[in-house]
Amino acid sequence: MFVGHYATAFGARAFKPAVPLWLLFVAVQLVDFAWAVLVLLGVEKVRIVPGFLEASPLDLYYMPFTHSLLGSVIWAVAAGLLYGAMRKGAGHWAAGLILGAAVLSHWFADLLVHAPDLPLIAGDPKFGFGLWRSLLWSQVAEIGLLLVGFWLYMRNTRAKGFVGKLAPFAFLFFLIAVQAYSHLSAPPADASAASFAITALIAYVLIAFGAFLTDRTRQPK
Ligand SMILES: [Zn+2]
Repeated sequence: MFVGHYATAFGARAFKPAVPLWLLFVAVQLVDFAWAVLVLLGVEKVRIVPGFLEASPLDLYYMPFTHSLLGSVIWAVAAGLLYGAMRKGAGHWAAGLILGAAVLSHWFADLLVHAPDLPLIAGDPKFGFGLWRSLLWSQVAEIGLLLVGFWLYMRNTRAKGFVGKLAPFAFLFFLIAVQAYSHLSAPPADASAASFAITALIAYVLIAFGAFLTDRTRQPK
């Protein structure tokens, strides 16, 4: 899953104590950041198989460190503890809990769309409901989730000025455009796992920066 993960980040912005939106955007993709780095290092494995699933050419056959349920829990606890310990003021552990839950949400969102490639610990059994087998239904689910999250964000924040009325919609349009491009453009014939991982990292960073800019134009209600 790609932009659907950000539904959780948008939604979690409503919780108190507030966690910055950009940080929630990093949190919900944290295990994919780690996945891209581990793919580049050759630790986790992926093959690009055109037509593997209608909505994804990725055969994700080995990723126990980032996409097992146990691995996800460890990433979530570590991120939550680190953030809770670094943050100052009242409710810092509650903020850490929110961040950790955002990290863990990634596995469950991936579960909807992935082929059965998500292990509990490592190896079999692996899980995935395989919505990526249908381009149409996977996109309906993913964009639908994103819109629900976006609606929650808009409901729970208000614009600081005129820009704050428009900026979230511009950002939403950007997210949907990136999603459409990633699914509708055919991967280059010579696409490698490494180039895919680098592209993913760049996209995740740009999107988190977009969340940072957008959230500067809004304030909690
Ligand atoms: Zn993932």
